[in-house]
Amino acid sequence: MASTPDHPDAAHEALDTLQRLWTPWRMSYIRGEGKDLGGCPFCVLPRRGDDAAALILHRGRSVYAILNAYPYNPGHLMVVPYRHVAGLEELTEQEVREMAGLVQRSVRALRSASGPHAFNIGMNIGTLAGAGIAEHLHQHVVPRWSGDTNFMPVVGQTRVLPELLEETYARLAPAFSN
Ligand SMILES: [Zn+2]
Repeated sequence: MASTPDHPDAAHEALDTLQRLWTPWRMSYIRGEGKDLGGCPFCVLPRRGDDAAALILHRGRSVYAILNAYPYNPGHLMVVPYRHVAGLEELTEQEVREMAGLVQRSVRALRSASGPHAFNIGMNIGTLAGAGIAEHLHQHVVPRWSGDTNFMPVVGQTRVLPELLEETYARLAPAFSN
C-alpha cells in the first residue's frame, strides 16, 4: 500500500522554493507564451518584423537574444538559435560558437546597463528538466542582485517585478551595441 505525505502541498512548495533559489531557469517562466502566437514562439517572434515588440535585444547570424516575458528578474533574457532544434548536440559548431559569444555579450550588456551582482546562466534540456518550451533550445541568462530572493514577492509562481518589460528593453537593447 502506497503511503501519502502528510502535506503534499507544503512539500511541493518547499521543493519549488529550492528550485527557485538554486536554479531559476528550471522554472517554466515562459509557460503560456506561444499559445496565441500560432506556433513555436522562438520561431515566430523573430519573423514578426518588430524586434522591440517581440523584445528581441540583439540579432546574430544564427542566434539571437530575447527578453523573457515572464522574467525571474529584470533583464532575464534568453539566447536562442533561429533553427528549431531541441538538443544541444543538434547545434552546428558555428551555432555553438555564436551562442557562447552572445551569452558573453549579454553578460557584458547587463553589467553595463544594470550592474547586477551575479548571474545564473544555464539551459534546460527536456520538459523533465524544467524547460518551458522544450522543443526549441534556449539558454537563460539571469542577472542576480543581493537579496533578490528575499524582497521580491512571488505570486502564483510569477514574480512581481519592480520594472516593466518595456523599460528593461529600452535600457538593455542599446547596451548590446557597445
Ligand atoms: Zn522553434
